[in-house]
Amino acid sequence: MERTTCRSIALLAALCAGSAAIAQMPPRPASPAAYPAQTAYPKENREAVGRELAAARKLAGADLEADFNWRCLISPLDRVQVAGVQHDGLVPATRVFDNLYSVGQNSVSAWAIDTPQGIIVIDALNSPDEARDILVPNMQKLGLDPKRIKYVILTHGHGDHWGGAKFLQDTYGAHVVASAADWGMMESPSRGGGPFASLVPPRHDIEAKDGDSVTLGDFSIRTYITPGHTPGTLSLVFPVFDKGVRHNAGLMGGTGGGSTPDAARRQIASLTRWQAITKAAGVDVLVTNHPVHMAATEKEALIRYGASQGNNPFIYGMDKYQRYMGVMSACSRVQLARMGEAPE
Ligand SMILES: [Zn+2]
Repeated sequence: MERTTCRSIALLAALCAGSAAIAQMPPRPASPAAYPAQTAYPKENREAVGRELAAARKLAGADLEADFNWRCLISPLDRVQVAGVQHDGLVPATRVFDNLYSVGQNSVSAWAIDTPQGIIVIDALNSPDEARDILVPNMQKLGLDPKRIKYVILTHGHGDHWGGAKFLQDTYGAHVVASAADWGMMESPSRGGGPFASLVPPRHDIEAKDGDSVTLGDFSIRTYITPGHTPGTLSLVFPVFDKGVRHNAGLMGGTGGGSTPDAARRQIASLTRWQAITKAAGVDVLVTNHPVHMAATEKEALIRYGASQGNNPFIYGMDKYQRYMGVMSACSRVQLARMGEAPE
């Protein structure tokens, strides 16, 4: 936009204020025919997609509309928007609960849980460089000594979650925990797929089984195997404390699933089981392994500025937690219908 236009039309002032950002955007393709299109699903069962979408949208209500949009529509249809929102970027480290610290980056989460007996880290970012230059400095900014890391729990075998694990293992002697199936992904020649084939996996260490615990002193994290996103996705239940008041956090290790009909069906079954597990455990706090899955970056900003009006925005309450997982499940049903199946 021309500067003279900006000066002469007051109504466009706000738009012009964004012109620096607009100037940095990649050049527009030569013709609309070359614009990126939404992902097509040529075999989709349109009637079933419509029915399942309507059910998912209804379940989401007003308070989970953004989560419905992300999981049911944006994530499966608009890779350009996903890449933009989920860009690699630095975000301030944040103490989210008394014992839970957000130490990751914009595109993928990493968490540190502080206990008197040491620190448990959940996920290790994309690479050794990110572990050294983002995760560790984020911990230090919040007063956490990385030498106290005792365990690194990996939610699944995609490199964006385990790329920095070997660094933490080699540098601090941390034990690395993953499911047997996803150790297999990390140790396969493709390293679990995507752009991660050049990563070096951590030395084979602890294989978490369904119903196991990772324990430091009297603090325990329960681990569950919830296949779908990967064959051995690990999901976690652990206590968090908000100004001394205990709550129960649930971290489902892979809410996206459905590159094949089989994977989508496994994901739906795992989410059904996860809902039962978390209901029985009284889970009322949502924690995710990508910030965009729950607008965690935005919630953390509210916490840092003291703008959450005394209510920790990660505390959903048991009913809303269940409904969030219900929306994730419903969106997997939508995805199954996009692949031509009619969910039961
Ligand atoms: Zn993944």
